Amino acid sequence: MINCEYLKEVINTTSEKNSQEKEFVQAMQEVLTSLEPVIKEKEEEYKKYGLLERLVEPERIISFRVPWVDDRGHVQVNRGYRVQFNGSIGPYKGGLRFNPTVNQSIMKFLAFEQIFKNALTGLPIGGGKGGSDFDPKGKSDMEIMRFCQSFMNELQRHIGQDVDVPAGDIGVGEREIGFLFGQFRKIKNTYEAGVLTGKGLSYGGSLTRKEATGYGLLYFMREMLKANNINIAGKKVIISGAGNVAIYACEKAIQMGANVIAMSDSNGYIYDKNGIKLDFIKEIKEIKRGRIKDYLKYVPDAQYVEGSIYDIPAEIVLPCATQNDINLQTAEKLVSNGTIAIGEGANMPCNNEAINYLLENKVLLAPGKAANAGGVATSALEMSQNSIRSSWTFEEVDKKLEQIMINIFNQCKSAADKYNLGTNYVAGANISAFKKVSNAMISQGII
Ligand code: NDP
Repeated sequence: MINCEYLKEVINTTSEKNSQEKEFVQAMQEVLTSLEPVIKEKEEEYKKYGLLERLVEPERIISFRVPWVDDRGHVQVNRGYRVQFNGSIGPYKGGLRFNPTVNQSIMKFLAFEQIFKNALTGLPIGGGKGGSDFDPKGKSDMEIMRFCQSFMNELQRHIGQDVDVPAGDIGVGEREIGFLFGQFRKIKNTYEAGVLTGKGLSYGGSLTRKEATGYGLLYFMREMLKANNINIAGKKVIISGAGNVAIYACEKAIQMGANVIAMSDSNGYIYDKNGIKLDFIKEIKEIKRGRIKDYLKYVPDAQYVEGSIYDIPAEIVLPCATQNDINLQTAEKLVSNGTIAIGEGANMPCNNEAINYLLENKVLLAPGKAANAGGVATSALEMSQNSIRSSWTFEEVDKKLEQIMINIFNQCKSAADKYNLGTNYVAGANISAFKKVSNAMISQGII
């Protein structure tokens, strides 16, 4: 129940104005609702500067046609997007998602989340996101290349190392970044390495970028558990997804002594009571681009189920696939299964009802915009290395990443402590990030 009139008014108007964009409205409501204690402190000032009204409106949305020719010689047309939501603390920064579900609502929710996530890293990067409804599944390398080239033909007008720096997300990994970078270089006739991150190591990529989101999630989780006197070693873990974030979350969880027993993809999940053998998952997903079901070829004793991975009881749950994976019903199941902590590797994997239920039931919840910020933080480290034309070792980058994640957890905790929010790190993250972004927006005037 919100009491602050200004906040109520902005939430209602924004929800109405964007009623067709349910993911964006969900993300906006989640953030704004939790800001009440800070808004109340300076309500008149924020109102005077139209701060919240400006915060929820993207600075710019670019939507464009992406025509390409498939292997049969047929013309295909997809829709591309780039949402440049808020550049007040640095160049827009955020990934590109290639997935058939992509639409303007999903792009806006992701870009909105990214504003706060990037602020939490402590690095000078603003919030943006982009992508296309293109489905890379089942496409040949040549088709992927032609699509990426066509996508970049338009995107190149809107990006630059000091303007907007895209990276990967669902469906966009090192292969796609390579094709995108090649086309940018060809069109611009310049070697602007810092225009994209997630690049291959031979042409300006950073060591540890591939691992960063998953590793960062576990660094955050370890800090959160430690602050609540819990040790991660020996805990049972399940991880939804088997992509970039899930794989490296699994790797770090195993290194920390946890027991990862299940992982999934969009068809189903595998359960290996003796602990997931990650090398097999890497071979299936990173090399063969196969399905998680293929794990049975390597470990015939494991089980494959076409159902919800959240049926498997675990103390730690890491949703690392996609948004709205955990609704109220799933949250109830997790609580009754004895889950003590959830770490959002994905963006917005828990819906708002699930978040409220989990917090009420004292489940420790590491919010995505804080817990998965290791990816974008390491992307910013990649940009730094590009601009000084140097590269750091794996250990150097990993150390910086670990320290950034510790700092992010401490920010979430101190905001939660300051406003007597207990272990509500979801609100802690929003409040801490909002303070930084709102200061920058007010200082820069009404733009
Ligand atoms: P990938 O494309 O590498 O992997 C995505 C994984 O999620 C795949 O296993 C995929 O299965 C599964 N998945 C996708 N959609 C669904 C669905 N509707 N239902 C069930 N499973 C699904 O993406 P990433 O690992 O990069 O991204 C995962 C999440 O992490 C996203 O929410 C992303 O926004 C977030 N994130 C990523 C960062 C990064 O650095 N990559 C940084 C911060 C957040 P399948 O192959 O069957 O489609």
